[in-house]
Amino acid sequence: MRFRREPNANRNFPTHCPYCAGEGLFPDETSDFAWKCTECLRIFEVKFHGQDAPEHAPAPAKSTEQAIQESLAHHGHDAVLRKEK
Ligand SMILES: [Zn+2]
Repeated sequence: MRFRREPNANRNFPTHCPYCAGEGLFPDETSDFAWKCTECLRIFEVKFHGQDAPEHAPAPAKSTEQAIQESLAHHGHDAVLRKEK
C-alpha cells in the first residue's frame, strides 16, 4: 500500500487563489495539478505550458572578468588591465 504519490516535477505552486486571492491553498486529489482554496472552496489547476521566444532577445551577459576589464578600461585604469593573450 502506498500512501504518497510520486512528486510531480511540473506542478506549480500558486501563492494566491486566482478567484479570491486567498492564501490557504492545499493540493487537491482531483488531478496532479489541482489546488483547493480553503477560503472560497474553489478547486483549480495551475499549469505552465511554455514560453514564447522573444522577437528581440537580449545580448548574452558578459563574464565577470570581461565586465571588470571593460569597466577598468572605460575609467582609464590602464595600469591594471590584463594584457591580451
Ligand atoms: Zn479562493
